[in-house]
Amino acid sequence: MKEKTKKYDCIIIGGGISGITAAIYLKQANKEVLLIEKSTLGGVLNKISIIKNYPGNPGISGPDLAYNLYKQVIDLKVDVLSDTVINIKHLKTCNKVILKDKELSCKYLILATGKEPRKLNLEHEDELIGHGVSYCALCDGFFFKNKKVAVIGAGESALKEAIYLSNICSMVTIINKYDYFKCKDDMVKEIENKNNIQVLYNSFIKSLNTNSNKLESITYLQNEKIINLDVDGVFVYIGSTPNIFGSLKLELDKNYVKVNSNMETNIDTIYAVGDIIKKDLYQLINAASEGMIAATNIIKKLNKK
Ligand SMILES: Cc1cc2nc3c(=O)[nH]c(=O)nc-3n(C[C@H](O)[C@H](O)[C@H](O)COP(=O)(O)OP(=O)(O)OC[C@H]3O[C@@H](n4cnc5c(N)ncnc54)[C@H](O)[C@@H]3O)c2cc1C
Repeated sequence: MKEKTKKYDCIIIGGGISGITAAIYLKQANKEVLLIEKSTLGGVLNKISIIKNYPGNPGISGPDLAYNLYKQVIDLKVDVLSDTVINIKHLKTCNKVILKDKELSCKYLILATGKEPRKLNLEHEDELIGHGVSYCALCDGFFFKNKKVAVIGAGESALKEAIYLSNICSMVTIINKYDYFKCKDDMVKEIENKNNIQVLYNSFIKSLNTNSNKLESITYLQNEKIINLDVDGVFVYIGSTPNIFGSLKLELDKNYVKVNSNMETNIDTIYAVGDIIKKDLYQLINAASEGMIAATNIIKKLNKK
C-alpha cells in the first residue's frame, strides 16, 4: 500500500527573517509547519556587517542576529528542511512543493525567498567572482586586507559596506553614478570623515580589467572621460532582483510579487512576505512584520475549519 504523505498546515519557503518570523508564529499556534531553506537560516542577514536600526539590538552584526533567529527556531523545534524548492503546483485541494527528489504537500504556502544582488553585467564578471568581484563585504572583505577596493553603488547598502571595508582595506573608492547618495545624511557624513574612502560622483563603471584571471583594474566613465583605476577588488551594491521561480502564475508589479494587506498573493492559499514582495521599503522590521501578518492570517483560517 502506498504510504500516505503528510499534509502540512503551512510550508514556508525561505529561512530569512520574514520566513522565520512566520514559522515562529505558526509553531507557537501549534500548527504543522515546515520551513525550507536552501542555504543558511537567517538569509541575507548572514551577509550584513552591522545593523543599527533593528529595535532592541542596536549595532548587532547580521550573523549574530541570524544566529539568534536560528536558535529561536531550534528551541521551538520548528521542522526545518535544508533543500531547494524548484517548483510549486497549486491544486484545488492543496499546494505541492517540488524538491529535487520529493514532493511535499500543504494547505497554505508562504513564499519568503528574498532577492539576489543585481550584477554589473560586464565582461569577466562571472569568472571573477572569488577572484576580485564580490557582492558581500562581510563574506569576502577579509581577502582584501590592506588592499585597494572599489564599491559600486549609491544606496545605503553600498555606503554601509564601504564603511565596513574601510576598516580592513587600505583604500575604498565608491563609484557612484549619481551626484548624490540615496541614503540618510549622517551616513554620507561618516563617509566624508573617513580618510581612506574616496567618492567618485557621476561615474559609471565600464569594464573589469583582468590579468592572469585576476582583477587588476577597472575602467570608469566620468564627465565623458575614460579613466582607469587600479583595484584588487570590486564590491557590487547596485540593487537586487526578487527570487521568483517555477511556473506559478503570480501577479507581479515591476518583477516583485503583488500582495494585499494580509500578504495574500493573487493565488488562493499562497502568501508572500519580505524582500520578494512589491513595497516601498526593504527593511528587517517590515520583513518580520509581514511574516507575522501572513502567519496570523493563516492561523485564523486554519482555526475556522
Ligand atoms: C547589504 C545589506 C544591508 C542591509 N542592512 C539593513 C539594515 O541595516 N537594516 C534593515 O532593517 N535592513 C537591512 N537590509 C535589508 C534586510 O536585510 C532585508 O530586507 C531582510 O533581511 C529580508 O529578509 P527576507 O526574509 O525577505 O529575505 P532573505 O533574508 O533574503 O531570505 C530569503 C531566503 O530564502 C532562501 N531561498 C531562496 N530561494 C529558495 C528556494 N528556491 N528554496 C529554498 N530556499 C530559498 C534564501 O537562501 C534565503 O535564505 C540590508 C540588506 C542588505 C543586502
